[in-house]
Amino acid sequence: MFNGPFNCGLFQKAVDKGVVKVDVRNIRDYTHDKHHTTDDAPYGGGAGMVMKPEPIFEAVETIKAELAQKEITDVPVILMTPQGQLLTQAIAQEFTQYNNMIIICGQYEGVDERVREHLVTHEISIGDYVLSGGELAAMVVVNTIVRLLPGFLGSPESLISESHTDGLLEYPQYTRPPEFRNWAVPEVLLSGNHAQIAKWRKNQSIIRTTQRRPDMIERES
Ligand code: SAM
Repeated sequence: MFNGPFNCGLFQKAVDKGVVKVDVRNIRDYTHDKHHTTDDAPYGGGAGMVMKPEPIFEAVETIKAELAQKEITDVPVILMTPQGQLLTQAIAQEFTQYNNMIIICGQYEGVDERVREHLVTHEISIGDYVLSGGELAAMVVVNTIVRLLPGFLGSPESLISESHTDGLLEYPQYTRPPEFRNWAVPEVLLSGNHAQIAKWRKNQSIIRTTQRRPDMIERES
């Protein structure tokens, strides 16, 4: 699952430049029975299966021991869960302070509660909906954090006025041609007057945010 998003485009470039390294582990490699069992029926009955604690603990503890050998100890352990804190740009920014992180992807009904209680440091949700597994969610989290790292974007100034960075949505963007099917680019953008352009963009950001996301304006005031 991880091969596409982590092996193409800007992300691949970031890997090549050493901005980020992704090490995907298969939880089944941390099992010791013939069938590589990673899940079992829930105590108390009910639908679905629950991911067993032993392979998850063993995987995380193994990775932590490997990192400790390189004298890396401050490593957050993030559980992907629809019950976690909602991912925002601000949370992604906070995570950029860590040089390493371990992300656990759940499956089925999720993970045994003891993982959450005794292994995990952060619980993150990517939205109020339920995916069938944590992999897509983990890729969203990784992508959101990694594009904030120095060296990821060719022009880091793209991050400055971006949606969700300063409490506003970004202004509308246009490129060539100046007229397409009789639809013209706003004149101010062709004027070369940078002060006027900045003013127009700020205004557009405020209008856009007010119309589409009044909750964001309320939060800021
Ligand atoms: N039974 C769980 C519940 O109701 O809270 C949902 C389990 S879900 C089917 C399986 C796995 O997908 C979860 O353990 C989690 O890792 C991942 N997942 C699903 N939705 C997610 C979301 N919105 N954000 C992050 N991870 C999610």
